[in-house]
Amino acid sequence: MRVLIVEDEPNLGRQLRATLEGAGYAIDLATDGEDGHYLGSTEAYDAIILDLGLPEVDGLTVLDRWRREGIVVPVLVLTARDSWSDKVAGLDAGADDYLAKPFQTEELIARLRALIRRASGNASSELTAGDVRLDTRSGKVTLDGEPVKLTAQEYKLLSYLMHHKGKVVSRTELIEHIYDQDFDRDSNTIEVFVTRIRKKLGPDVITTIRGLGYSLEEPRG
Ligand code: CA
Repeated sequence: MRVLIVEDEPNLGRQLRATLEGAGYAIDLATDGEDGHYLGSTEAYDAIILDLGLPEVDGLTVLDRWRREGIVVPVLVLTARDSWSDKVAGLDAGADDYLAKPFQTEELIARLRALIRRASGNASSELTAGDVRLDTRSGKVTLDGEPVKLTAQEYKLLSYLMHHKGKVVSRTELIEHIYDQDFDRDSNTIEVFVTRIRKKLGPDVITTIRGLGYSLEEPRG
C-alpha cells in the first residue's frame, strides 16, 4: 500500500515517513501544498495524510482541488488541536477522517489501516484467501494457522492483492502501489516476488491471468 504524506514540519514529516515505512507502507512525502497537490493528482495512492496548514497552497484548497478533479483516494487530514472548525471544514471539503495534533502514531496508523480497508471494501482487519490469512494490524501472515515469514516487498505485494481479492491486478498497478516515487521500478521484480510468495504459500494462492496480471480468487464455497 502506498501513502502520500503532505506535511511541512520537517521533523514530523520525516518521523511519519520512517514510522509508516516500518509499518509496511511505501511512502512519498511532500512538504508544501503545491507539490502535495501535484503528487496526489498524478501518482497512485491508497491513502493520503494531509496537513491543513501548508505553505504555497493550504490543505483545504488542495483537498478541494483533488475532489473536483475526481480523485477519490481516502484522505485523512491533520488539524490543529481542538480546532472544531478545521475538522468541519476538512470533512466538508471531502476528508474521510481527521486527527488533531499532537497525536499518537499508533492512532494514525490504525486510522490509516481502517481507511484503506474500507476503501477496498474490506470490513475486517484480518484478510483471508483460501488457507492464507493476513492480519493488517500485526503484519503477520499465516498458512493453515502456521506463521509464514515474508520479506517487506513480498508482504506489500500480497497485502495489495488481498485487499483487492477477486479483482485482476495488473503488474503496473502493483508497481504503482508497492513502491514509492524514488524507487527504481522494474516490472520484472514483480514476477520474482510472485514466484517467491507461491513457494512460501502454495502454487495456487496467486493466479496469473495471462496478459492482464494477477488475481487472488474468492474461496470456493
Ligand atoms: Ca503545518
